Amino acid sequence: MIEVDAKAERQSARGPKPRADLHAAQAIRAGLLGRCPACGRGALFEGFLTRRARCEACGFDLGAVDTGDGAATFIMQIAGFLVGFSALAVEIAWRPPLWLHLVVWLPLVALLAVALMRPGKGLMTALQILRLRQDPTARPDGSSKAR
Ligand SMILES: [Zn+2]
Repeated sequence: MIEVDAKAERQSARGPKPRADLHAAQAIRAGLLGRCPACGRGALFEGFLTRRARCEACGFDLGAVDTGDGAATFIMQIAGFLVGFSALAVEIAWRPPLWLHLVVWLPLVALLAVALMRPGKGLMTALQILRLRQDPTARPDGSSKAR
């Protein structure tokens, strides 16, 4: 019994302990829906974008998974592409005045970015956890230890 506790303690000291409860598609779906990618049951966020330190359902160490600004980078590019090319298409088709472009597209790009941020951060967290499952030597920030 003591030997098992010592092994668990060594694993938790290396970062989040990967669990194999969910398949990759289930983990990604759970992350997109704002649930824990390790078990699919607990809430991933407290507040709007703050990730919980630990899953309430399975105890997975969510705080040790570091996705950095990965989600924000992709969301800005996706929202910018969609709104930018939509504005270009509207300009070519109807040539509305500039003030109408500003009134329509600026709020739309902001709303789109905010709406996609939470699923994007959940997806990045799920992908990071899946990477930790495949490579137990990977560090929580996504890099691998030199061997
Ligand atoms: Zn969980």
